Amino acid sequence: MEKKKRNALIIGGCRGIGRAITLRLAEDGFDVFPTCRKSGEAADMLTSEVRALGRKCTVLEFDVRDREGVRKVLDSTFADDAPDAVVYNSGIARDNLFVFMNSEEWSDVLDTNLQGFYNTVQPLVFGMLAKHAGRIVVITSASGQTGQAGQVNYSASKAGLIGAVKALARETGRKGILVNAVAPGVIETEMTKDLPKDRILPLIPLKRFGDPREVAGVVSFLCGDDSTYIQGQVIAVSGGLVI
Ligand code: NDP
Repeated sequence: MEKKKRNALIIGGCRGIGRAITLRLAEDGFDVFPTCRKSGEAADMLTSEVRALGRKCTVLEFDVRDREGVRKVLDSTFADDAPDAVVYNSGIARDNLFVFMNSEEWSDVLDTNLQGFYNTVQPLVFGMLAKHAGRIVVITSASGQTGQAGQVNYSASKAGLIGAVKALARETGRKGILVNAVAPGVIETEMTKDLPKDRILPLIPLKRFGDPREVAGVVSFLCGDDSTYIQGQVIAVSGGLVI
């Protein structure tokens, strides 16, 4: 018997970890809605790769900081059918010691990483509650679990997401919506390309940076049929950086 069609929204789903998540969820059988700020060649390539897997791919465009713009796109896309899975992956880092941190570095990170979560996920929750099923997965960070010097802004935003996940999990559990977080350590993407590898690797028991697909695998599990009793948890994917 053919399985019911499912759709997944991946906020920040066109590059880096988000791209790997989009592809993995498409492999799992989801029709996918990855978002980016401006689509172009990368989004076109992703769309072709998803279609080659036999799934539909609809790229949505918005900046997660633009509350009204986001709502318009989400309302028109998901008016009749709320997503079965939502992954909040968008995030930026603007590192600086707190003593030197200017208000722009603080606000840019909080506005994208934390306010962006409200702007994109809150408008979808009513529709998901009405379906009595769904998954919400938030990409937080090891930095939000332990705090990281030079990242007071980023750690605050990612710890804020962990609090939001735990509280939302308590609100939505009885309606069948599972809400969890995934906390990557150091993963090879644009965000980490300039990090001093020689100084960081000794801190990681597995002695290597992670691959985006290793994060995507955990998101896939949390969105899939084998995860039915995990709620409000933070799953670290960090090679043991956080134990
Ligand atoms: P990238 O820099 O490769 O990707 C960042 C993603 O965030 C892109 O999809 C980007 O979308 C999106 N984004 C950034 N700003 C905005 C915005 N204003 N509006 C909409 N989307 C936005 O980073 P990674 O893939 O490494 O990071 C993905 C997530 O994983 C982030 O939340 C990051 O904090 C987290 N993470 C990453 C770690 C790592 O080691 N790489 C470790 C721990 C957590 P666009 O295509 O529009 O640019």
